[in-house]
Amino acid sequence: MHTEFLVVGAGIAGLAIAWHLHRAGRSVRVLEAAPRTGGTIRTVHHGEILLEQGPQSLRGAGLATARLVDEMGLGGRVVEASPASNQRFVLVGGRLRALPSGPGGLLAGGALKRRAVARLLLEPLQPRGPAEGESIDAFVRRRFGPHIAYPLIDAFIAGIYAGDATRTEAVSAFPELVEAEQAHGSVLLGMMRRERPERPDGLPRGAFTFDGGVEVLPRAIHDRLGEVVRTGVAVHEVVPDGGRVRVVADDGEHQAEHVIVCTPPRVAARQVAAWRDALAEVPVAPVAAIHLGWPEGRGPRMDGFGWLAPSKERSDVLGAIWVSSTFPHLAPHMDLLRVMVGGSRAPFLTELSERALADHALEVVRQVQGHTSDPELVQVAVHKPGIPQYVVGHAARRRAVESALQRVHPLSWGLTGIGLSQGLQAAEDLASHLIGRPPHP
Ligand SMILES: Cc1cc2nc3c(=O)[nH]c(=O)nc-3n(C[C@H](O)[C@H](O)[C@H](O)COP(=O)(O)OP(=O)(O)OC[C@H]3O[C@@H](n4cnc5c(N)ncnc54)[C@H](O)[C@@H]3O)c2cc1C
Repeated sequence: MHTEFLVVGAGIAGLAIAWHLHRAGRSVRVLEAAPRTGGTIRTVHHGEILLEQGPQSLRGAGLATARLVDEMGLGGRVVEASPASNQRFVLVGGRLRALPSGPGGLLAGGALKRRAVARLLLEPLQPRGPAEGESIDAFVRRRFGPHIAYPLIDAFIAGIYAGDATRTEAVSAFPELVEAEQAHGSVLLGMMRRERPERPDGLPRGAFTFDGGVEVLPRAIHDRLGEVVRTGVAVHEVVPDGGRVRVVADDGEHQAEHVIVCTPPRVAARQVAAWRDALAEVPVAPVAAIHLGWPEGRGPRMDGFGWLAPSKERSDVLGAIWVSSTFPHLAPHMDLLRVMVGGSRAPFLTELSERALADHALEVVRQVQGHTSDPELVQVAVHKPGIPQYVVGHAARRRAVESALQRVHPLSWGLTGIGLSQGLQAAEDLASHLIGRPPHP
């Protein structure tokens, strides 16, 4: 079977690039091993309650995200995070402290001490550092001082990557910060001078989801792609073969001019021999997402986005999202929160039984939030192998993979950006490269 573009894996990255190529009138086929598409995105219906087992929200700041939502006709189904969720908390000294929001909030204190704020303001005077190969912890210490690196960056890296800030590479995790330093000699000055791109109207700039949860987006793309997508077909090998690429799959052999590999790093390492060594060095951190729900008004305090736990405060939890407060439509008549456990700081916890994980999460909520009654709803989702870690050296590994082959292209959160918006931007950029023009009008 021959096609111009063959996409391996139908998580959001694979679906998005397939859509861009298909819409541009090119011949595309998508092969997905699982019986469903969407990959890590999964919204489970529990009566009228929607439980996000993977990502909870998208970020509207990304232009590619906004365009895709618009193209799918989903603008009217977007639900913006509630204003209350602008308030985030971090665990300091065993207590939840409000995180400063914006420069005014920084000066007012809260989670940050005055000397931390004073050091932060000296950032423009610090000398330039290396463009890559430095951890985000070292980068932030050097530019903003030790009190921002810990607890704030430590907690953020736990929240986003379930990872360790002393191992996560600055340029891979926060490229815009390192680029600002390199271009302007200062992150603060660089961020102030940054140009803001034009965006389609009507889409929120901050966090949002859909009326039916995040899975609305991959479902909409899958529906538009129709028979382009084949589920239940695992790909075993991707082999460049002269001016073509040969793909060995459950349903036989395929030929394509270009193959886009959108599978997780461990899988892609098995599929593409030339990437094996570089991808074998991308670690993954397993995580468990535990939902706990109480009848409305009977649960713990929830008046913000939730909280994060810096590693020296607690290693047995990453943090919790207050779902009811952030997206009340997901949990009508219920106080619902989601506790995140495991990550690179405690991967062994994800080996516990579902029951033990739920008991552990409840005990953590009792200790941190002081709430005692038993929940009515308990649901546990374990992600293994888990979240890819962009450890120091990641930028070099990514270059090695991207330049190894001419007709086989990587596109996945294992390499090209950890969040949904980054994945969607990478999909749009790669589609532009492959068809020689932007995929949108
Ligand atoms: C608990 C959790 C919370 C998160 N929260 C957020 C959040 O709030 N916001 C955010 O922006 N991001 C969040 N993320 C990250 C987000 O989920 C990812 O960026 C995104 O889903 C990755 O999509 P992907 O398509 O790159 O990979 P995946 O979703 O991993 O898709 C890979 C696909 O490849 C398929 N596949 C595997 N093997 C084969 C094979 N042999 N042949 C064919 N197909 C195969 C898989 O079945 C899967 O469908 C979160 C992640 C987790 C785990």
